[in-house]
Amino acid sequence: MNHLTRASAAELADALGRKEVSSVEVVQAHLDQIAAVDHAVHSYLHVDAEGALATARAVDDARADGDSDLHVMAGVPIAVKDVMTTKGLPTTCGSKILQGWVPPYDSTVVAKIRAAGMPILGKTNLDEFAMGSSTEHSGYGPSHNPWDLDRIPGGSGGGSSSVLASFQAPLATGTDTGGSIRQPAAVTGTVGTKPTYGGVSRYGLVALASSLDQAGPCARTVLDTALLHAVMGGYDPKDSTSIHAPIPPVVRAAQRADVTGMRIGVVKQLTGAGYQAGVQQRFDEAVALLVDAGASVVEVDCPNFEYALAAYYLILPSEASSNLAKFDAMRYGIRVLPQGIDAPSAEQVMAATRDAGFGDEVKRRIILGTYALSSGYYDAYYGQAQKVRRLIAQDFERAFQVADVLVSPTAPTTAFKIGEKLDDPMAMYLNDVATIPANLAGLPGMSVPSGLAPEDGLPTGLQILAPAMADDRLYAVGAALERALVARWGGHLLAQAPALPRKEA
Ligand code: GLN
Repeated sequence: MNHLTRASAAELADALGRKEVSSVEVVQAHLDQIAAVDHAVHSYLHVDAEGALATARAVDDARADGDSDLHVMAGVPIAVKDVMTTKGLPTTCGSKILQGWVPPYDSTVVAKIRAAGMPILGKTNLDEFAMGSSTEHSGYGPSHNPWDLDRIPGGSGGGSSSVLASFQAPLATGTDTGGSIRQPAAVTGTVGTKPTYGGVSRYGLVALASSLDQAGPCARTVLDTALLHAVMGGYDPKDSTSIHAPIPPVVRAAQRADVTGMRIGVVKQLTGAGYQAGVQQRFDEAVALLVDAGASVVEVDCPNFEYALAAYYLILPSEASSNLAKFDAMRYGIRVLPQGIDAPSAEQVMAATRDAGFGDEVKRRIILGTYALSSGYYDAYYGQAQKVRRLIAQDFERAFQVADVLVSPTAPTTAFKIGEKLDDPMAMYLNDVATIPANLAGLPGMSVPSGLAPEDGLPTGLQILAPAMADDRLYAVGAALERALVARWGGHLLAQAPALPRKEA
């Protein structure tokens, strides 16, 4: 097997099952890698060495005792996006307002990870409350792209994508409200899935926009992503929008990697103008490889996708402004007293706390959302955006009559430079043109590496979209493409990434 930090989660699970390696060794190898490279990448907001090693020891002991109930993934470590509550471990959502908050309960996703016996290495960085496409909006400083440390690793889940691309964890969790799993995967040469809305529990995810938020798996291979999807997914009575149905057969689909006879729809509105030449080129080549593997291609027309971004940036701030009202200086996180007021009122404390605790992007969206929801404007903005959302869902329904899956580039460009778009919210928002329609319609989507753009040598991603609860199709197509591309590259794309500066212990 490769060095432990280079191995896939599937390889680690096999080796652990055969007792060729212990979970303590696997966890320690990752802790050593974190100590050596995280100074350069800044993927983690919190590392829990003790907790991870304790879980690893418990799994190793159970395995030594011949415990036959061990989960296949028992002992394989994981990193958790810091927007998911973890009992006893800090959860900041990348925000100063939650600095020091230690939740008294686990999110369902984390409870499932713990129940599977997977050691949690730590919590990964993100844009504050998952608002952003670069991690530059984190209250704790940006993460860096392992392919080029001057560039962004995507967002909001840039901590999770960079953790994978720098071999600081074989698996990570993400949340995707408008693309925060898929776009970071695309710009770092990793894989990420946004499951069908309701396919993975939202209980214990600190909400951004409840009707769009979806937790999902992130990994370096399609099979690993499926293995984690199977751990995280499934019905949860604690989430009122959870789907009461079995998890689609994602692992089997990833193993078979079969696209014979599949109809692949290329979305006309999500290619061409506005997409970087090298991104488009790698996308076209990937589609040709899928045809070689036995699929057929059709072009599909989704005219209302043009309005997706506008609708999203009304619906998301509206929901976010009400979800974030709970950060009132009374219940969670920090409390800041206003300067120069002797006996401040609750409102004055709240205002001072929210002013100090929230960053600019969060404030921008709260103001936008409050405005869009105010009486007199509600119908013109929020109501209208909901109608557009319906039209987008109808575009998808029509497209899926002629195609089994839809594809597009995941993001219009490769990773941009840190600082490049920070002062231009519109430019930042445009990163999500291709990913947002799936969130508006509640559909599953995946990003798989499609190669390096010739002009800058940086990773590009191909997005796959499927009908609700047909998440397994993403894995079939993703795995078929990965197989063809790995054969072409002679190994994983990340093998071509530059070495990171190491801090030796
Ligand atoms: N970049 C998008 C935004 O800023 C997506 C965020 C997300 O998926 N959490 O809203």
